[in-house]
Amino acid sequence: MRNKSKLFSICGGLLSLFLFFTSDATYGLDFEQEFTVVRVKFAENTTQVYGYDDYTNPDIPWKSVETSRSDTAKVDISPVSALNKVYFVSTNIAAVTVSPTQATSSPQTITLEGGAKGESDVRANMASEEGKAATKIDVAAYDKIVKTVALIPVRSPSDPGTDVNVNDVVNFLNKKAYNQAVVEWNVFHMGFCTANFDLNKDGLIDVKTWMTDEMIVVRDTCKNDTFDYNIFLVDHPSDGSFGFMDFGPNQRYGFVHVGEIVGASCNVNQVVAHELGHGAFGLTHPNEEGQPVIDAANLMTWFADFSPWRLRKYQWDKINP
Ligand SMILES: [Zn+2]
Repeated sequence: MRNKSKLFSICGGLLSLFLFFTSDATYGLDFEQEFTVVRVKFAENTTQVYGYDDYTNPDIPWKSVETSRSDTAKVDISPVSALNKVYFVSTNIAAVTVSPTQATSSPQTITLEGGAKGESDVRANMASEEGKAATKIDVAAYDKIVKTVALIPVRSPSDPGTDVNVNDVVNFLNKKAYNQAVVEWNVFHMGFCTANFDLNKDGLIDVKTWMTDEMIVVRDTCKNDTFDYNIFLVDHPSDGSFGFMDFGPNQRYGFVHVGEIVGASCNVNQVVAHELGHGAFGLTHPNEEGQPVIDAANLMTWFADFSPWRLRKYQWDKINP
């Protein structure tokens, strides 16, 4: 018969697991010692429904989940001989519960179940549920917010305008971008609206300030205030920009210049989502939030070169306070 005692020390996501084996021999001392370094690291599950942020703190990621709904994350554990030493524990079970309670594989998929609105640390504890934490993930449970937006393609007698693929916009808004903050968009695709916006007959819509007389013509001709927000799809902006929506929250009207984006390296779905970030939620560009200037993967990054879509924890909280 053998007795074990264990000592642990924490170093980031690494946890040194010391196993001391002692015999019950009545004479002498039969002492074996093993040393195992157990590595435990939370990771994003690419099939997750809500958000994952390992940009804010690479060592302790954030995960979002909807209240009364569940989502998943991965946990990488090595060596496999240590799997049954890893226990998952939520420190605030009113907000989040976790299952299973003990790892059986690596990567291990864990299910995070949202309870009431709130936050919890979900810890990977060693040797028992009460053991020391090897590492943890922070989980925020948000109530779902539902917003409505009308996409309104606009033409003038001299400009035919460019429409969007509404399904692509819906999928980007709800399955890529705003699901991260537990927001669902009901998107309404309107027919073309004709507006005589080119007051100075230069073939462009003047967008140099919020709002120009030409933008006001579009708004007053084409708006539909039965929706929370209107995005006017108008080609040929005077400055070659992709979109313009003043900072909200609750700026109802935005402009997206679809024809400028076609052929560019970003896509119109990202621009619609980005402009709604400004108008609906008051998000500024990351470098204006006291964040590092380069968060190139962020939906709200200034340079939309390649359709970034990530939203970070501070943005989840601003979108879904
Ligand atoms: Zn912007």
